[in-house]
Amino acid sequence: MTSIKDIITKKRDGLPLTCAEIAHFVHEYTSGAIPDYQAAAFCMAIFLRGMDDSETVALTQAIAASGRQIDLAEFGLNTADKHSTGGVGDKTTLICSPIAAACGVNVAKLAGRGLGHTGGTIDKLSSIPGYNSLLTPSEFHDQVRSIGIAVAAQTEDIAPADRKLYALRDVTGTVESPPLIISSVMGKKIAAGAACIVLDVKYGSGAFIKSQEAAQTLANSMVDIGNACGRRMSAVVSSMDAPLGNAVGNALEVREAVDMLSGHATYDNPQIIYLRDLCITLAGRMIALAKNLSEEDGEAMARAALESGAALAKFREWIAAQGGDVSFIQRNDLPLAPLTAEVFAPYDGGVEFPFDTQKVGKAACALGAGRMVLTDTIDPGAGVYFSHGNGGVTAKLYSSCEAKLAQGVEILKTGL
Ligand code: URA
Repeated sequence: MTSIKDIITKKRDGLPLTCAEIAHFVHEYTSGAIPDYQAAAFCMAIFLRGMDDSETVALTQAIAASGRQIDLAEFGLNTADKHSTGGVGDKTTLICSPIAAACGVNVAKLAGRGLGHTGGTIDKLSSIPGYNSLLTPSEFHDQVRSIGIAVAAQTEDIAPADRKLYALRDVTGTVESPPLIISSVMGKKIAAGAACIVLDVKYGSGAFIKSQEAAQTLANSMVDIGNACGRRMSAVVSSMDAPLGNAVGNALEVREAVDMLSGHATYDNPQIIYLRDLCITLAGRMIALAKNLSEEDGEAMARAALESGAALAKFREWIAAQGGDVSFIQRNDLPLAPLTAEVFAPYDGGVEFPFDTQKVGKAACALGAGRMVLTDTIDPGAGVYFSHGNGGVTAKLYSSCEAKLAQGVEILKTGL
């Protein structure tokens, strides 16, 4: 076997690595046999020299194989997962998953906690009293079998190589590398087991990819790599130039999702319309892949499930199955943080949202809705809600702490 140093120098010199060399490197790094400085050099060599498709597939498979891999084979091709590359106010999983499940798709999803300016699905679900995101493998399987949907927190034993590599990339300037991003995202998705995977690749001021073209290129590559790993893939490229919907923050976002599922949303601005349309598109793709239908037929089924209330009924069943208190759904009154402040900005309803999306995410984080470091605790009632009227948008900020509220206002204002 090629030595670790020779694997690094081979990539440094622009030569393609074999599948065995990549698998060996990932295995040895995960087990602790390779020090961080060699892995950092390896990541930098990949960053500078790139990887061809067969190397990226090998890296993806090695990351997937570095820990537990969920086996959903009993469901055949009818299992779907959906993954977003990270957005501000992105509650699409809460809406498109029950829509797809209401259409007979087995939604088996592992989700993450938020870090930095984008929120995490598990944090949003955790604002529902009693919701248990820590399902054992058999609980996860049983729930998918019995009601067709389970959304659980990704545990430490899934793709542990990615956890180590991502932390290292974060401090060595090697995050923005297509093969490293693709293998990181797809490695986790492959380990999570679903036969059908729908990706939502974000671009714009609130996303880590700024241009639509770059997002499309990344989306195409992820689809190719997923297909090469034997999964049915579909990718949507969507804008993060404005927050998704009106709500940013955990309980606020669950409330917005419930409003949409129950037909109570008011479609009075482009952001809320975009949210609904994106959810229908994502759910439609999940249905199309899992049921072997056209995207048009998938979308038509998704729209019908949303409009008929079938998706809301499935949402209730799902939350109850995971121990959540569903009594709030009727009243849609998850508690919000007690301290509030408002910031107004003129807006004509056009494409240019008046608040900088990344700053909105950072303000929500400062208010207590997110974490700057993994050990931060979340205030489920904190966040920002945008209302439209009087020639502009009013951002209402919620926090449980005066200092955090002031900081959130400051961040949002400097983003004007
Ligand atoms: N999200 C991931 O999970 N990995 C990356 O490398 C980038 C975004």
